[in-house]
Amino acid sequence: MNSSVADAASFLRNDELVAIPTETVYGLAGNALNAAVVLKIFEAKERPSFDPLIVHIPSKEAALLYAEDVPPVALKLMEAFWPGPLTLVLKKKDCIPDVVTSGLDTVGLRMPNHTMTLALLNNLDFPLAAPSANPFGYISPTTAQHVMDQLDSKIAMVLDGGACKVGVESTIVGFEDGETVIYRLGGLTPEDIRKVAGKVVIRINSSSDPKAPGMLKSHYAPSKPLHIADDLKQLIDANKESKLAVICFGDVVVDDKHAIYNLSPTGDFSEAASNLFAFLRTIDRREDIDVIVAAYLPETNLGFAINDRLERAAVK
Ligand code: AMP
Ligand code: MG
Repeated sequence: MNSSVADAASFLRNDELVAIPTETVYGLAGNALNAAVVLKIFEAKERPSFDPLIVHIPSKEAALLYAEDVPPVALKLMEAFWPGPLTLVLKKKDCIPDVVTSGLDTVGLRMPNHTMTLALLNNLDFPLAAPSANPFGYISPTTAQHVMDQLDSKIAMVLDGGACKVGVESTIVGFEDGETVIYRLGGLTPEDIRKVAGKVVIRINSSSDPKAPGMLKSHYAPSKPLHIADDLKQLIDANKESKLAVICFGDVVVDDKHAIYNLSPTGDFSEAASNLFAFLRTIDRREDIDVIVAAYLPETNLGFAINDRLERAAVK
């Protein structure tokens, strides 16, 4: 763990992997233009090769080095939200190797909003392919220590940039036949996107079909069983024989004989998003807990993205 951008740049130039901080979650980064390096990312994560990687770039202008036929609405979205938690799926140029995109003719591009990582990207003459820096399927890392806990032996360095401010992954947006499509809910709400792009279709992909890559159904998952419902009280009753951790939100009263993890007692969605993955990790490590129960958040603001992550964590 180290906070030297120069050290990170030098490892990356030597074709090694470095975990990098972003405002969403920590990424496991390598030279996106070098297929052999990109393969090392898949190996370190044990990630299936049909799941494409997001390419991180230092500026809006850089998007045009790696993508072509960029629709005007994509430029508007970049203008409004970059640097920020928005990934744009665009037609790729040939310089992006097929391993990055799992053979698709599109590439996911993002300009992250983190000072250290932007400085790093500006120091390199290649973009960084970076999926979240966790073993495939497990909870995404939101601190440098989370990365160290699981991937230390497989990477050259973790660039420590503190805790991630947003805490859930980027919102992924693509363009099909003149339509703007949200493929993954994330740090920007559907409403945020709609305000800039106009009409937006939400088409969340939960298939594991390699032809339709995207979000796999089970993801972000702790090893303990997690159950989720609207009615928290009923859910707690149904699991009362187990040692419970209760994930809740806002102004709720839960019997304090359970371990209570309130994502945001004041009902602040941003705070809830930034706590979610860290809470799941803490609970997963506790030997005195068997089962996790969670209440759905209200379906507004970042509530959509947080509920999506809870649902994927619940699928076994
Ligand atoms: P992450 O594990 O957070 O890096 O997310 C990578 C995700 O980005 C993949 O699972 C896909 O859902 C999405 N993605 C990346 N590139 C593309 C693409 N070209 N087309 C569609 N989705 C993409
Ligand atoms: Mg991931």
